[in-house]
Amino acid sequence: MRFLLVCIIFFHSLHAFDYKLKPEKVNATTYCFFGSPEEINKHNNGNMVNSCFVDMGKSYLVVDSGPTYEYAVQAYSKIKEIKNLPISYVINTHVHDDHWLGNGYYKELGINIIGSVKFQDETKAEVTRMQRNVSKDAYTKTTQVFPNIFVDKEKTFTIDGKKIVITSVNKKAHTSSDLLVYIPDISTIFVGDIIFNDRLPSLRDGNILEWIKELDKIKAMKAKYVIGGHGTKTDATSFEFTYNYLVELRDKVAKAIEDGKDIEDAVSNIKMPSYENVHMYDTLQKQNIDTAYRTMEWSND
Ligand SMILES: [Zn+2]
Repeated sequence: MRFLLVCIIFFHSLHAFDYKLKPEKVNATTYCFFGSPEEINKHNNGNMVNSCFVDMGKSYLVVDSGPTYEYAVQAYSKIKEIKNLPISYVINTHVHDDHWLGNGYYKELGINIIGSVKFQDETKAEVTRMQRNVSKDAYTKTTQVFPNIFVDKEKTFTIDGKKIVITSVNKKAHTSSDLLVYIPDISTIFVGDIIFNDRLPSLRDGNILEWIKELDKIKAMKAKYVIGGHGTKTDATSFEFTYNYLVELRDKVAKAIEDGKDIEDAVSNIKMPSYENVHMYDTLQKQNIDTAYRTMEWSND
């Protein structure tokens, strides 16, 4: 029996991709694994996203379960080296698959998963984007496991005596399923991909005008720690990069529309030189102009 167990462990360690995750301390009770500021590829195998653990006292609250089953296994194992606590809940900040394909592991542990009421409507991929872009040994055992507790407008939970407030953005901002997770005791808010740092934000499934409004609200909350879905900046000013980028993009697209320029013209000619050296500019900038133009063309804002 023991020999069999050793064989299984040996076989597993031979074949599973090692993410080499290192938890970073954000505040006294919050640790995050920060992904690299790049696209999904077969080197990072989806480790280009943030996944965070909050020590609530007797349990961890997990915000975003990461890109694969194996990532989730490794993240929780690293966190247990700091303090061996069970997990109370996993929250999925939105539907993009780098943020929640680790759910399967947590479901196996019997943990409830919280997501937006819109989550399932937005998830229709048979083969996920992650599956297409990562190696087989990283994707092993990954399945699409959806949340089983839904937030429509706002829900308050008490975990280990501490309050957490989960608010649904309820409009298309980064996606149509964005959630904000506020923990007043530690003045910390998790905002998913409403905030990017160190790389360009992706507007693909978003609405630039609503996204900016949401950033205004987050700013007004004046939380001490504001933790986004990508990038390592987590202080009260972490919204600035995304905010400044979206506002400049909005203003330039508005000007192009006002000047009667068509979409092709806007996509080729709008320049934002201060972002040219930011990670993922080449991949996302033209697509972001295109999406912003389509949103704003018919908007009265
Ligand atoms: Zn996203």
